[in-house]
Parts: sequence; C-alpha cells; structure tokens
Amino acid sequence: MLPDPLPHRTLAVPILMYHRVGGVSPGAPSITRALTVPTAQFDAEMRWLHDSGFHAITPLELFAALEHGARLPSKPVMITFDDGYRDILWNAAPLLHRLRMPATAFLITDRISGADPSFLTWAEVKRLEARGFSIGSHTVHHLELPYLPPREAFVELVASRAALEEHLHRAVPWFAYPSGRFDATVVGLLRKAGYVMAVTTMHGDLQRAASPYLLRRDAVYSGFGVRGLEGLLR
Ligand SMILES: [Zn+2]
Repeated sequence: MLPDPLPHRTLAVPILMYHRVGGVSPGAPSITRALTVPTAQFDAEMRWLHDSGFHAITPLELFAALEHGARLPSKPVMITFDDGYRDILWNAAPLLHRLRMPATAFLITDRISGADPSFLTWAEVKRLEARGFSIGSHTVHHLELPYLPPREAFVELVASRAALEEHLHRAVPWFAYPSGRFDATVVGLLRKAGYVMAVTTMHGDLQRAASPYLLRRDAVYSGFGVRGLEGLLR
C-alpha cells in the first residue's frame, strides 16, 4: 500500500532495462538487434555488477525502502526485462540465479502462450519466478497508453494485472509503460487500477517516494558492454 501522504524521501537506485538476451539473425530489424544483448555480453555485465559489489534488488525491496523507509543493501540496482521474450529464461535467468541476483520481467499478457513463439508461455513464466524473477505488467497489448481513450487504457491496466494475478496467485502491483509513454491521465488510471509503482524510460537513478509512478530507468543496449554499464552507473 502507498502511504498517504507520500513521503519526500529520495534514493539513488539505478534501474536497468533489458529486452532480449541471446543471438539475433543477421536479417533482423535494427531495433531488434539494438534491443538484443548477446549472451556473453550479458554474462560479463552481470559478473561485473556482482564483482563490483552491486546488490540486485526486487521491486518489493525498492518499494519498501522508497515508501516505507526499509533499509537497502549497499550499491542497490534493479535489473528489469521488458516484453517477456522467452530467451531471458534460457540466456539470462540461469546466470542471475547462480549469482543470486533477482530480476524483474514486465510482461505483455496477450503474448504469453500466444502464437509468437519468441514470447514466454505461462509455464515458463512460473519457471522464471522459480529462478528469482518478480513479475510486473506491461499491459495486455503493448499499446501506447496516452493515445488510447482513457476507458481503453484502464482496461489494458486492469485486465493485464488480473491475468497475471490469476495465473501466478500473487499480487502484481508493478508496472512498466509500453514504449515509456505516459501522461497525467495514465498515471491516475494506474493508481486507480491498483498499481503502486511504475518504471519509465526517463534517464537517471534518483528515485522519488513522492513519484512512485515515475521511476527512472536506463536502457542497456547491445554493444554497451561492461564499459558502457560502468559509465552508466558511475
Ligand atoms: Zn515494451
């Protein structure tokens, strides 16, 4: 539950945004190539985080620290994956599990167990959870919410959360905006739909308790590598 009124605390917690991890076919569109981090590169980035003393945290830990003053480990970082591609189960989850680094996946519920085999099935989502992933919503259809009539945007928020909670038997109060797009109306709808925290694609690591639906997050692209990550987290 969000405290009322919201506190004025700020915390420096970098949140990293990944999409896919693995190989890409040479003919893939440039956006797919940019959003797919090769497995070896991902491994190097996670090992560097681990060996540099970063502690991966869950959204629940971030929420408890930001809104209720709970303590965080030193050098906290939140690792997130958008859209729910299946390759994160094979190429990211095993290493994260070995390094005891929790992560978060924001899923597009209409794609889960859908026609496109590049996305996770419900059984695989449960395996991700067993490997230490927290699950959040990324809507039903990945439409840009500010351009939808508010009633339709609200259905995207409520129906995706309901589907996740029905399959996973736990509360799913975390959210990521499709394409990072939001406005004041969408933020109001999120609160009404029962979410308590949402990540954006606004750069930076300064998270504000007074703005739990506007958490800052940085994308990690293919080719960043350890050096790129180091620059981001300095
Ligand atoms: Zn997305």
